Amino acid sequence: MGAATAWAATRRGLSVAVLEQFGAGHDRGSSHGSARIVRRAYPDPVYLRMTGRAMELWRELETDAGTRLLRTVGGIDHGPLRDPERLADALATAAVPHELLPPEEAALRWPGLRFDGPVLFHREAGTVDAAGAVAAFLERAGVREADIRYHTAVRRIVPLGELGTSGASGASGASGASGAEAVRLETAEGATLTARRAVFAAGAWAADLLGGLVPLPELTVSQQQIFHFPRRDPVADPWPVVVHKDALNTYSLPGGRDGGPHDGRKIAEHNAGGPTTAGTRDGRVDPAARDRITAYVRDWLPGLVPEPFNEATCLYTSTANDDFVLDRFGPLVVCSPCSGHGAKFAPLIGEMATDLALGGAPPEPRFTLAAHLAQVGRTVAAQWPV
Ligand SMILES: Cc1cc2nc3c(=O)[nH]c(=O)nc-3n(C[C@H](O)[C@H](O)[C@H](O)COP(=O)(O)OP(=O)(O)OC[C@H]3O[C@@H](n4cnc5c(N)ncnc54)[C@H](O)[C@@H]3O)c2cc1C
Repeated sequence: MGAATAWAATRRGLSVAVLEQFGAGHDRGSSHGSARIVRRAYPDPVYLRMTGRAMELWRELETDAGTRLLRTVGGIDHGPLRDPERLADALATAAVPHELLPPEEAALRWPGLRFDGPVLFHREAGTVDAAGAVAAFLERAGVREADIRYHTAVRRIVPLGELGTSGASGASGASGASGAEAVRLETAEGATLTARRAVFAAGAWAADLLGGLVPLPELTVSQQQIFHFPRRDPVADPWPVVVHKDALNTYSLPGGRDGGPHDGRKIAEHNAGGPTTAGTRDGRVDPAARDRITAYVRDWLPGLVPEPFNEATCLYTSTANDDFVLDRFGPLVVCSPCSGHGAKFAPLIGEMATDLALGGAPPEPRFTLAAHLAQVGRTVAAQWPV
């Protein structure tokens, strides 16, 4: 999200520095690996609308960077708890082309996958190369003279000058902020940077970095695990991405580079990992999770060999209702779009964070600090703590 923001901000001619505590392409956060699902199918009109603009921006990034990041293989949603009919209604309302198929027809179209109820298919779905996208965002931002610093950890955030309030009503965001705000960032390595605005897209480290300064909602960090399985027919066309919600809440997708030379399939349970912190997570795959997914593959994906050939962990940073956090508090833009579904929106989040940094209103009332805190009966402090 930070890389996407750097791309968006430099495209608008802003002077940008990117501070990353680890090295390029590290695997200690949420954005490593070669594949994330992109799709239009959301029951919620806010997110559904956002998927459309995000798709356009992904294509702009591909053109700008001269690289392919999207694989448009289509998307399948099925399982009684996924409610494909409701999703189909949402897609119809948004005029997104789709088909609702009986399970027998779906099984004929995609041999190797199993279905037992209605199946939603839409073409405008597939994968994005997550690590490739981060690299492309930063490469293009660098070409536009962003100052990109790796191994540079922000340790202290110091507000400067007269800082705005977020409004006595508890509303946060642009309303009370004056253009004179600024912030000084001090790094663990002894550097100091001063900026009119700072966008904090710190993923699982957000609470460590901003807690005490910004009235954050509770952000639950959890360690997720993903597995790659070989295809029985490695030269067949890739299947669509699949979200299947039944006894297990799973997703699967063509793995890209991490899927090995034969495009093995990435499979995981959504949000099944235990709580942890960015600093204490152990990076170990839970054998029980491996067993559950292997049994799932045996039952539902007969076109795969039910033996994972690699596995990895990754961090979710989730809000209580899975809505993103995108808001401004004084000169600080808070950007926490994860809850396990943020990747597909990355270039749009970059635009939204840039708008916020430039004084724009929060992109969606539900994403504000105030809205998140209101859910648990808290309000946003009216005064920036100078
Ligand atoms: C297993 C898994 C599967 C997923 N699948 C999908 C999917 O299919 N589709 C989808 O849309 N989304 C998916 N997501 C969600 C998506 O990947 C995340 O929403 C996204 O990667 C979040 O990016 P981020 O920039 O917020 O966090 P990160 O990528 O973790 O970036 C935060 C960065 O901030 C840096 N940082 C933190 N603190 C400091 C500091 N003090 N100083 C300097 N740097 C700092 C960190 O080092 C890190 O590089 C998945 C996530 C996981 C974990």
